Amino acid sequence: MIIKLKHTVDENKANELGKELDSFILKQNGSFILVTPNKLKEVEEKHKSLVAESFVFNDDIQLASRKFIQRTREIKISDEISIGGKTNNTLVITGPCSVESEKQIDESAQLCKKLGVKILRAGAFKPRTSPYSFQGMGIDGLKLLDKMRSKYGLKIISEVRDSTQVQDIIEYSDIVQIGAKSMYDHGILKACAKIKKPVLLKRGFGTTVQEFVQAAEFILSGGNENVILCERGIRTFETKTRFTLDLCGVAWLKENTNLPIILDPSHAIGYAYGVADLTRACMAMGCDGLLVETHPNPSVAKSDASQQLNFEEFTKLYESLKPIAKAIGRNII
Ligand code: PEP
Ligand code: MN
Repeated sequence: MIIKLKHTVDENKANELGKELDSFILKQNGSFILVTPNKLKEVEEKHKSLVAESFVFNDDIQLASRKFIQRTREIKISDEISIGGKTNNTLVITGPCSVESEKQIDESAQLCKKLGVKILRAGAFKPRTSPYSFQGMGIDGLKLLDKMRSKYGLKIISEVRDSTQVQDIIEYSDIVQIGAKSMYDHGILKACAKIKKPVLLKRGFGTTVQEFVQAAEFILSGGNENVILCERGIRTFETKTRFTLDLCGVAWLKENTNLPIILDPSHAIGYAYGVADLTRACMAMGCDGLLVETHPNPSVAKSDASQQLNFEEFTKLYESLKPIAKAIGRNII
């Protein structure tokens, strides 16, 4: 249950009641909010005088639920860049899988600048499935991203691979990415709950949408309201593609949650040939953002080489999204 306390209720009283009801205590717009386990279905008579409004839930999707906030929440990435709310914005994010060198990331930043893409992506800490694969440039990679941020005025998204890196990622980027392999990492989720920066939470490839949103609840209930979901494909029986992009799940998330949703067709299909078509399908669904991997020369990429688009392919794709956006009343930003 979510219980919004009256704005006259002070911190001591909120803490006392919060403890009694075994709840998380959050402060939003000057008032305290208690988030209890969902088995609580009613406010007791003796507490009613403290309560402004309450919301009952059937399961543990509470703060992320559309029953609590009846629209997609607005998330501000900067003063000029927002998604969700009334914006109708679809935020395009592109860049390589990994930062590999200054030349490579500078060329990627130039592509963003040329097309008007505002967010550059690239991993510096890579969670690979093999210890023998490229693990990322680490802090040096983050510093290169930071350099691109000031050189070209771009915003940066990069992945945090363990909770000790959260502060570094915050310092050098504007959106903190939690990767599919870390969706269940409670150290990372709880560290990201303590910050205010937007967090892009990717869906674990073996998780249901319920589990996915519950992972988001760890961040929300810890006090960070700025959570964006990212569908990036789940594992099915299919072996011809890397994963299966779950657009049915996305429809469910749009209907039942208040979190903006960014779609990542690159990691879903795993092969460049299908990325443009899938991205257009995602655009047509009216999502809040698109994440597409690009590389100056995909064939020599140190990670995810088979799925990255070259700049010519991406430019063609980007232009083809504009009429789709127009047809469904969305703005590409
Ligand atoms: C990535 O964005 O490069 C990445 C590793 O994605 P995922 O966590 O979805 O596999
Ligand atoms: Mn990748």
